Amino acid sequence: MSSNAGATPSLSPSLLVVDDEAAIADYVAAVGTATGCETSVCTQPLSLDKHLVNMPDIIVLDLSMPGADGISVIRDLASAGCTSLLILMSGVDSRVLMSASHIATMQGLNLHGCLEKPFRKKNLKDQLITAVAEIHGRRMESHTDAPDTKQTSSVDEEDIVRGLEANEFVVHYQPQIDLNTAEWVGMEALVRWQHPTLGMLYPDQFIDTIEKRGLGMALTRAVLKNVLTDYAHWGPSANYSGTIAINLPPAALTGFDFPEEVMHSAEEFNFPAKKLVFELTETSVASDPVSAADVLTRLRLNGMGLAIDDFGTGHSSLEQLRLLPFTELKIDQSFVRAIDSDVTASVIVKSAIKLGHELNLQVVAEGVENWKIYNWLRNEQCDIAQGWVIAKAMSCNDISVWADKWKNHTSHQEGD
Ligand code: C2E
Ligand code: MG
Ligand code: MG
Repeated sequence: MSSNAGATPSLSPSLLVVDDEAAIADYVAAVGTATGCETSVCTQPLSLDKHLVNMPDIIVLDLSMPGADGISVIRDLASAGCTSLLILMSGVDSRVLMSASHIATMQGLNLHGCLEKPFRKKNLKDQLITAVAEIHGRRMESHTDAPDTKQTSSVDEEDIVRGLEANEFVVHYQPQIDLNTAEWVGMEALVRWQHPTLGMLYPDQFIDTIEKRGLGMALTRAVLKNVLTDYAHWGPSANYSGTIAINLPPAALTGFDFPEEVMHSAEEFNFPAKKLVFELTETSVASDPVSAADVLTRLRLNGMGLAIDDFGTGHSSLEQLRLLPFTELKIDQSFVRAIDSDVTASVIVKSAIKLGHELNLQVVAEGVENWKIYNWLRNEQCDIAQGWVIAKAMSCNDISVWADKWKNHTSHQEGD
């Protein structure tokens, strides 16, 4: 067992390989080193704890190991609050690997991918390259100055209220592209908290607390105001004619006056309300379905769009599709990201596209991370793509620069 490379701070992502077969572990580690990682190896899963003291950026975990099967290691990783990107390996059949990956995801781990043993070097390398890119991406776009899990616990209600009052919540925009014409047709507004001491915080670090403390509506107001102010600054001069999507928490759907509030704010900023699309998940609707239907129908009557977000997850998406006046279906990124590695996921995405079209909905795929997935979706007649291969979420100041680059980038659909 080699020493834990994560002990010294480094710009290279740290990779931990957990496999009882030393030869395979060393091989994976060597490929990891070649892709720019600082690697360490653990061949005795019972001693895994000490490798997690400095949480590695990436973990490659074998599922079948004597004395500690991979599923119990997954459980241990989850209870240790593991934030690493996880790549699972197994020589057992692919359905077992899939269900292990679901167990990992359900326990809140960041599953990056799966490798069936025996694997080809290219497959391993591809997984590691994309994991390394994701780690660099997180550090650059988003998590450079983000707090670790311990710091997140200091985000409490009082701090949130203070942050809302001090206008510390800002919005970043992620472009959406028409797969047929490659034109920029929309963007999703994603909230970030520019915290004075903790740096930039991301929704998974504060949304739960906001919703549990009844601050969902205050956040929505802050987001809407940011969107309208940002648009007033750059929208008209940039000649932007696409849509802007805003995520709605349950609280927005329990107050009957939300549509009026939106119309009023839009008017105040001279913003065409019809450009707004509201995204909601089943949890947004669950707490008060009657009021939700009332609010959503009135938003539609005023010309705004409605998207069912994270479609395919949860338990009642189909029922919501039947009951609510959606205009758009957003396929959850967990399916989209797995299109090229999981046949079941690709069948689900194809069916969701077909279902959306038969219901006359615009179908958006989020989590489009590479050109292979982008082109696959285009072939399957999906309407809109959103994902890192196009752009990560960015501040409104960066949008115009990105838009120019996108326009001039004619070869983006050609290769991977
Ligand atoms: P969501 O609405 O499903 O937003 C998509 C999330 O996926 C965003 O994360 C986005 O940055 C990320 N993403 C986009 N493309 C890719 C990709 O290609 N690969 C990967 N791995 N991820 C990608 P973000 O910004 O961290 O937001 C997370 C969730 O927080 C959102 O999921 C949404 O449910 C919630 N959220 C974001 N902004 C708001 C807001 O203003 N209000 C409320 N209530 N919730 C928000
Ligand atoms: Mg969304
Ligand atoms: Mg989503």
